[in-house]
Amino acid sequence: MVFENPVVKELVEKTRVLWALGHAGNLMGWDTEVYMPREGVRERSLASAEISLLQQKIILSREIVDLVEKADKLEGLNDYERGLVRLLKRDIRIAKNIPPRIVGEMARITQEAVVVWREAKARNDYEMFKPYLKRIVELSREIADHLGWEDHPYDALLDLYEEGLKTRDIDELFSRLKPEIKRILDKVLSMGKYPQSHELEKAKYDVDAMRRVNREVLELLGYPLGSRARLDESAHPFTISLGINDVRITTRYEGYDFKRSLLGTVHEFGHATYELQIDQRLMATRLARGVSLGIHEGQSRFWENIIGRSRAFVEVIYPILEKHLDFIKKYSPEEIYYYFNTVRPSLIRTEADEVTYNLHILLRAELEKLMIKGEISVDDLPEYWDNYMEEILGIRPHNYAEGVLQDIHWSMGSIGYFPTYTLGNLVAAQMRHHMLRDIDLYNAIIEKKYDLIKEWQKEKIHHWGSTYQPKELLRRAFGEEYVADHFIKYLEEKYLG
Ligand code: MG
Repeated sequence: MVFENPVVKELVEKTRVLWALGHAGNLMGWDTEVYMPREGVRERSLASAEISLLQQKIILSREIVDLVEKADKLEGLNDYERGLVRLLKRDIRIAKNIPPRIVGEMARITQEAVVVWREAKARNDYEMFKPYLKRIVELSREIADHLGWEDHPYDALLDLYEEGLKTRDIDELFSRLKPEIKRILDKVLSMGKYPQSHELEKAKYDVDAMRRVNREVLELLGYPLGSRARLDESAHPFTISLGINDVRITTRYEGYDFKRSLLGTVHEFGHATYELQIDQRLMATRLARGVSLGIHEGQSRFWENIIGRSRAFVEVIYPILEKHLDFIKKYSPEEIYYYFNTVRPSLIRTEADEVTYNLHILLRAELEKLMIKGEISVDDLPEYWDNYMEEILGIRPHNYAEGVLQDIHWSMGSIGYFPTYTLGNLVAAQMRHHMLRDIDLYNAIIEKKYDLIKEWQKEKIHHWGSTYQPKELLRRAFGEEYVADHFIKYLEEKYLG
């Protein structure tokens, strides 16, 4: 039994309705992206807002708050029990401290801002988006102040996405990463072994054929399609868990540059595997989900980059590619490997390679920090963006769409989210480092022993769900918290070795 203490058991029973509302909300979210007709969005947003309000009301009800306080005073709880109490306390703190006025205004303004952002990006018109961003930054700062912070208001926002993450953590990581990545990038470019672009990036594919490729690759990896998992299509790929035994991923088909669809699918498979491997005994509780965005992204980046972009993996999937995509025959597995691993300084984050990706995040994290502290104004943001881009990657955007307006995140009010992408890259390399001590990873890929890899991930990370805080989870699994060194070593071995 994972929950033994009678008070905690009661808490599990009393909060099951929150889990159920989350389940319903996630199913609605999945439907919104996958099936819903466009006009359905008006009633869907109303329904989602009502469900969120109901969740708020229940988590702040006297009964739950008292029970959590009572459980918090208990001694001798096991790790699962303590994890549950920690998370419910955190949920209560967040729900209680942010005034409904701010929650309401943020919900209303971001709903509009996403639409305006799309239009502003299409028209290359920053002025149009600016008033929205200004208000979103002000509201985010208010949220930070209500949640409380010590060293930097950005701390409070980071914590919403990555429990326990501080501005000083990311400052430390980036100050180590920045010079090392620039050094490695310069070398990669001067060596010329990894191409800056590849003709396959323009090659068109048949969408039905590509659908078969993705399915076969997922089957190869042991994704439980149909029994416990699904693959669907949406404009922006994502993973959603309705429970440990119902996890759904989506992918997209742009019709050219097939690695985007393929590696995007493998990325979401990594997210899904985390959710699918959570301890079944945690089913339908607050602990039955991945603990944070950074740890989650670590799982997806591990499968997408460390495995998906390896020579071993290309070799294994080559017969699948050859079977379904008629143009593959012209290229050897070695050439496909280089197509999967082009390296070039680029303006668009989502197109960035493994080497340059974190510099894009560094830029966003720096600007967010400055905006939240009021050290730069939203008016001056494009100029800061362009200058910083030139400093770190040596290239300058020609318009707002490939500069400050490229990402959806700020329009959604997600300030503090970006750094979790870099944490993901670091955690993936960290897992690789420690996995190599126990498993002959590249041999396992060649021999299609993906269960071996998944079992290792399950034991170290997945089965715990949200039992431990991210930093504690990493300490227990690897004896260290977030570190940059394994990532730097990985890049060196792969790109300079
Ligand atoms: Mg992801």
